Amino acid sequence: MIRYSCNHCHTEIGSIPFESVKDTLSQIDGEDKSSFLTVDTDGGLHIRCICEHCEQSLQTYPDYYTLKKWLQ
Ligand SMILES: [Zn+2]
Repeated sequence: MIRYSCNHCHTEIGSIPFESVKDTLSQIDGEDKSSFLTVDTDGGLHIRCICEHCEQSLQTYPDYYTLKKWLQ
């Protein structure tokens, strides 16, 4: 299973079967993969993305995106 979680608030968004990963990754530019794709200690893949709530916040307050402390 590949788990998705929000890179900003760490909310778990969901998970997808391993078989679907190939399709997902093929939609992503190669140079971007390593920046949000991590391997958990148990060997599972973990994809950091953004949840609806944070996406909305970023659209409402774009300046927040540049504030590093907000990301942690
Ligand atoms: Zn979030």
